[in-house]
Amino acid sequence: MAAKVLLQVKGLKKYFPIKGGFLGRTVNYVKAVDDISFNVIEGETVSLVGESGCGKSTAGRAILRLEEPTAGEVIFNNVDISALSKKEVRKMRKDLQIIFQDPYASINPRQTVSRVLEEALQIQNIVPVEQRKDRAIDLLKAVGLAAYQADRFPHEFSGGQRQRIGIARALSLNPKLIICDEAVSALDVSIRAQILNLLKKLQHDYQLTYLFISHDLGVVRHISDRIIVMYLGRIMEIADKRSLFEAPRHPYTRALLSAIPVPRPGKKRERIVLSGDVPSSIDPPEGCRFHTRCPYVRDKCKTEVPELRSAGDMSAGHIAACHYFEEIYSRSAN
Ligand code: SF4
Repeated sequence: MAAKVLLQVKGLKKYFPIKGGFLGRTVNYVKAVDDISFNVIEGETVSLVGESGCGKSTAGRAILRLEEPTAGEVIFNNVDISALSKKEVRKMRKDLQIIFQDPYASINPRQTVSRVLEEALQIQNIVPVEQRKDRAIDLLKAVGLAAYQADRFPHEFSGGQRQRIGIARALSLNPKLIICDEAVSALDVSIRAQILNLLKKLQHDYQLTYLFISHDLGVVRHISDRIIVMYLGRIMEIADKRSLFEAPRHPYTRALLSAIPVPRPGKKRERIVLSGDVPSSIDPPEGCRFHTRCPYVRDKCKTEVPELRSAGDMSAGHIAACHYFEEIYSRSAN
């Protein structure tokens, strides 16, 4: 059976206006997400990665319409979310959930954990009132917490346990897709591994699809099927995990990968240190957005925008946006 595309993002843009002058008119825009397109297949985990400010979290929020997109389409389960009214979007949210980096910030500290979960069920009215407490306890057990913890308050839990509560809340509405926005970034390494393993288990048990947003390629390696690398609001490279880690084509991806420690003893990876800071997304560089930091930059890079094009294993959907990746790749492979 052909794989079903659950989420299609087409030409998505999110610009934030900058007001200025005496009349407070819009004088410019922060181009946080600037024309990105990709698909997510049902049951897979696709990761959006890049440095802080690359637009990955804004993209996640625009997909959910927590931020109104400036342009583009988001088609989820054959429905164009971008064309729905706010009321229709709220209804659809039960299928599309998000887990944040800091679940504590989005949980009412004065409610018990059971009440937090019951409230989510109440808003969508999908479980009869007399069954909500039992459902809340089932959810806590599913994320590795105990039934007796249901009547505790959020401050009585550790960071990792709170993230489990955030996951339970996202799960409570039986979503099809969960966006994990830096969901493990604030956790200690050992807890992070536990939460990643939990997410994998839940994906299998609940047939979930994940869009996993992270600045850390080392983390996404453990959970992703495919990876999308973003820089300054644009997509630089898309590939399945194996292709991306074994044969990265874009110089930016190669620089990000070079910062990850190699797990094999005695094996070293040459570190590529990028010069300069990420330019402002108010006035991004012409041509290739990465050209101000790219060690391989040439004149053409400063004027012509490189299109995303086939970059190797087509069955892996490997594409990259660089004018010269063939040359760069063959040079470094020799
Ligand atoms: Fe570097 Fe040019 Fe490729 Fe951009 S297009 S990544 S500047 S070589």
